[in-house]
Amino acid sequence: MTIEATDDGLHERVGREFDSELELLRDFFENASVGLHSLSADGTILRVNRAELDLLGYSEDEYVGHNIAEFHADRDVIEDMLERLSAGHLVRDYRARMVAKDGSVKHVAIDSSVLRDARGRVIHTRCITRDDGQRVAAEAVLRDTESRVRAAEQALLASADRLRRAQQAARLGTWEWDAATDEVAWDGVEQVHGVETGSLAGTFTAYIEDVHPEDQPRVVEAVKATAETGVELNVEYRIVWPDGTTHWLEARGLPIPDADGATPRLAGTCQDITERRLAQDERERLLDDLTRANEVKDEFVGLVSHELRSPLTTIYGNVRLVNHAGDRMDDSDRAVALEDIERETERLQRIIENLLLLARAESGLTVDAEPLVVTQVVHEVVERHLQRHQARRFKIAEHGDPRPVVFPKASLEQVIENLVTNAEKYSPASEPIVIEFERDDREVRVRVLDRGVGIGDEKIARLFDAFYRAPDATGYAPGLGIGLTVCKRLVDAQGGRMWARRRDGGGSEFGFALPVSSANESAPKHSDSPSFE
Ligand code: ADP
Repeated sequence: MTIEATDDGLHERVGREFDSELELLRDFFENASVGLHSLSADGTILRVNRAELDLLGYSEDEYVGHNIAEFHADRDVIEDMLERLSAGHLVRDYRARMVAKDGSVKHVAIDSSVLRDARGRVIHTRCITRDDGQRVAAEAVLRDTESRVRAAEQALLASADRLRRAQQAARLGTWEWDAATDEVAWDGVEQVHGVETGSLAGTFTAYIEDVHPEDQPRVVEAVKATAETGVELNVEYRIVWPDGTTHWLEARGLPIPDADGATPRLAGTCQDITERRLAQDERERLLDDLTRANEVKDEFVGLVSHELRSPLTTIYGNVRLVNHAGDRMDDSDRAVALEDIERETERLQRIIENLLLLARAESGLTVDAEPLVVTQVVHEVVERHLQRHQARRFKIAEHGDPRPVVFPKASLEQVIENLVTNAEKYSPASEPIVIEFERDDREVRVRVLDRGVGIGDEKIARLFDAFYRAPDATGYAPGLGIGLTVCKRLVDAQGGRMWARRRDGGGSEFGFALPVSSANESAPKHSDSPSFE
């Protein structure tokens, strides 16, 4: 049914000609299930139906004759709507909030349009008002749901981000393997393998190719055992990164049983444990070193006790003999006993001196150096030696001018004495000991040469190690194996060097070289120091 809005006097004509029709329309208006009202040009309510009064709870008197704006909760909203209408717009589904009689706010949706006469004057404004409460409530639920989803999404993203960072920090990847399809899904495993994200093929068979060949069987075995028996997977293996470095990984995992209790899937982690492995290896190495050092110490204590005991036994025996025999002992026997005592006492003294020097060198203590003429010190040591070993002959061959070296005197004496004592110990008394000197601009060299047991080439490198004794020497003469060590440490400490050599024609050469001091700065300064200028 259309109403001709352009026709003047419509209401009157309809009223005249279609009385019963008007009744019908009025009934229709009155009983429509949506709210209907009409407004005058200034917004005064002209007419309202039941549905609208019911919606808001007013009586007709309380509503009709009032301005519609009074019933709106939001003044700006109704003003805007009225403005649109007066501008000639059609208002559709305009959402507003109205105040009900009980004070509650009702959400409504309004369709509205203006009926004008031919000259454009407002006859009335038609308004259809629907209860919008359910839609608004549904929208609120929707909004709430949406914001929850967004929050959940954000939480998920943040959690994924945290996981990724944690994985990076822990150099850890996670994985899940489907035994039936052999497919592996993983996160962060690439960084553990030193490759780009997404570049690992997604199967276990392909994965195992990246594992160090020696470790492959172990990894396959471990994964199989977990899949078959359900034991926790815990396996360490190596992989070689594309940059060539070897990394240790630790894979841990657990089976995920399906409904039948079978375990078609395993899930777990895979972590770079290179640092831990290295630390572990280092710890084991240190422990080995410590154990070895302890063994060496035990051996040392045993050796030292033995070395000290044998001269002491001789000394003690002879002292008792001389003491108890008294006058009954003839002079030659007494002399022999006293000689034994003297020799063994000196031996003891040498051992203890070497031990002290070694201990001092180990502790890094330095000794005061002084300018010395090496030939002179050698002569002094040899003279002392000859008093004890009268049968021995020495040949001292000097080349070049003696020039001072800067060295602690007691240390130089000890070096020479140790070399001479070794030559004495390891060569027959009938063979002379030769001592040679050489010097150039840089250093003074001293060689002690004998025709004794000699040394195997393969042993030479070890002779200067603490407590090392060549096997053939052991049966030849007693010793602790520290004399040469002490020599080398003392010489090294002053910037010199030492060597051992097999001598052509038998026997050995032990030598050392010391840097010469420049004549000006280190010529002997004391009047009692020897001068060879
Ligand atoms: P020790 O003589 O107490 O064993 P050293 O440190 O002086 O300790 O010498 C270490 C080892 O070097 C000796 O045990 C011996 O095997 C070898 N050695 C040293 N001097 C000589 C030498 N003149 N001739 C042969 N071997 C020697």
